[in-house]
Amino acid sequence: MTTTVVDPTSVEPTPLELAHKQFRQELLDAGLLFDTGVAGVYGRAAGFEAIVDGLDGLLTSMRPTNARVLRFPPVFARQTFEATEYISSFPHLAGTVQTFTGDTADHRELLAARAEGRDWDGWFDPAQTVLVPAACHPVYPLYAGTVNNPGAVVDVHGYCFRHEPSVDPARMQSFRMREFVRIGDPDVTEQHRDEWIARAQGALTDLRLPFETAGANDPFFGRVGRLLAVNQRDDGLKVELVVRLYGDLDDGTAVVSGNCHREHFGEAFAITTADGAVAHSACVGFGLERLALGLLRTHGLDFARWPEAVRKRLSL
Ligand code: ZN
Repeated sequence: MTTTVVDPTSVEPTPLELAHKQFRQELLDAGLLFDTGVAGVYGRAAGFEAIVDGLDGLLTSMRPTNARVLRFPPVFARQTFEATEYISSFPHLAGTVQTFTGDTADHRELLAARAEGRDWDGWFDPAQTVLVPAACHPVYPLYAGTVNNPGAVVDVHGYCFRHEPSVDPARMQSFRMREFVRIGDPDVTEQHRDEWIARAQGALTDLRLPFETAGANDPFFGRVGRLLAVNQRDDGLKVELVVRLYGDLDDGTAVVSGNCHREHFGEAFAITTADGAVAHSACVGFGLERLALGLLRTHGLDFARWPEAVRKRLSL
């Protein structure tokens, strides 16, 4: 019996892979994004950033007056990362920071290895920081203790890292999320998620960005993860607004994501409500690069030619 060995380089790209490649090339040719040599890590030109700034401004105009504005760097405490349990569910997406803390002799060895073309990472050790995987994660430790009714509302914006290299420009490894977070009792958090999904639907309609609203699940890792994903979907914990960047070639790209975390972060960070119960939390996140890409795909690569109402909404 003979076995057929498939040469991966000879496999025909799928129509979806071709569509990813083509959209990516259009964005590079238009000078909106720059290739950095790593899949999913882009430099961005003024034109692209103007759209992101416009989206950011639009979201600021939607912010409730009682929201607390918090901004964090793209790295956060390893201790916080540990407490979120992200490593249990998404080890494949996480990125950690390593630093050199050796002495001169160690440095000499490192340079010798490097000169020989060997790996030098062995001389680097885990730092006290980890790349932020979701913009809201650095928020929760600030609320350890009691949140009074009707709970805390937070506006957070930050860089997120997820290790999923792809040709699809909408699947970046490093991207920005603007999130509106609520910490409180089960009712207010669920209501927050639903209200913000409705607001997001309104915003996308104003931007003339066709979307679908769909129940979803996170890409949990492994066999146990598949069960978690099914439960998350069955319990309606995650709702996404999805834009079809590639027509019917896939199920669309999530540009807004609304998540009820139940007691997950309340338990992890010892947050309680006024009646002593473990606090619930929910967040609605807007993927700024993905929204910008959705608009570019829908209205064309030159925003000067977009519908006037859309440009006005984004102050373009
Ligand atoms: Zn979040």
